[in-house]
Amino acid sequence: MLICQLCSGQDLTLLATHIREGEGRIVQCAGCGLIMQDLDWDSERLKLYYEEEYQGTNSLVTGQLQTPLKHFADRLLTLDPILENLSPLLRPGQDILELGCGCGALLHRLGGKAGRLVGLEMHSPFVDFMRQDLGIEAYTEGLDALGFHEAFDLAICIASLDHTPDPLAQLRSLWAALRPGGVLYLEVPNEEDALGQHLPPATREAYKTFFWHRAHLFYFSRKTITAMLAAAGFSSEVTCRHDYTLKNHLNWYFLGRPQASFLSGTVEIGLYPGNGPFEQGMNALFREMEPRFKALLAGTMSGDALCCVARKPEM
Ligand SMILES: [Zn+2]
Repeated sequence: MLICQLCSGQDLTLLATHIREGEGRIVQCAGCGLIMQDLDWDSERLKLYYEEEYQGTNSLVTGQLQTPLKHFADRLLTLDPILENLSPLLRPGQDILELGCGCGALLHRLGGKAGRLVGLEMHSPFVDFMRQDLGIEAYTEGLDALGFHEAFDLAICIASLDHTPDPLAQLRSLWAALRPGGVLYLEVPNEEDALGQHLPPATREAYKTFFWHRAHLFYFSRKTITAMLAAAGFSSEVTCRHDYTLKNHLNWYFLGRPQASFLSGTVEIGLYPGNGPFEQGMNALFREMEPRFKALLAGTMSGDALCCVARKPEM
């Protein structure tokens, strides 16, 4: 029987029976508000899902199975907002661990000034790519199997915690892997994002069905991620960011469906492909609105990503 991972509550409310991939069950703890997917896969089934299904349905360009090199190149285009949040946390010579590091693009960008860089990633072709092409220390094993103890100054976990069947245990393992005074930078999708809260009812329902995702076993709000970080021993500050464009928001608003890819949803700002004065003028208008749109979502904590700076106390 499913119980809440955060408060051990057993009073769960059914939120949804349809997810992006078809039938599914999304439940919310009545005690603490944590939202979970009710999915009784064991670790072998989960591993199989990542080896055989995940990359096909969740590459940065939907439906395309990308090589690690292509994935790496695309990922580099999306890192600036993460690096902006990380920059106040970076110190020369830091030992850095990234959990769920994908093809290693972020670690690659952090190389140079850092000390030891270690990446953990379940998808073995990415780990091979990091070792052979990037020269980064990388493992497919989980954090506990590797037994790091107070070995890192900075741990990073981007859009990965919600994929693990036991996020609280993962946070405790990250806490143990950090030195006293170390910092965890964590990003998770925001369950309270603007699309899910504010779209008109018909398109909002379509959006939520898309939002609930087989790979995402947990869905966090500012309140529940703060509580889970506290349960693992961290004190944290949570801010919010929005990666998707105003065009993407309007696409959902009017059509109730996603754009072709993560890249088109986050990089394309203009509405029109033409070069005439009207098209160029409209595109310029959208470029002007884009930073104000993102600032509005960040300021109202309704962007797509919650960004947590979580600190392990000095002993
Ligand atoms: Zn709970």
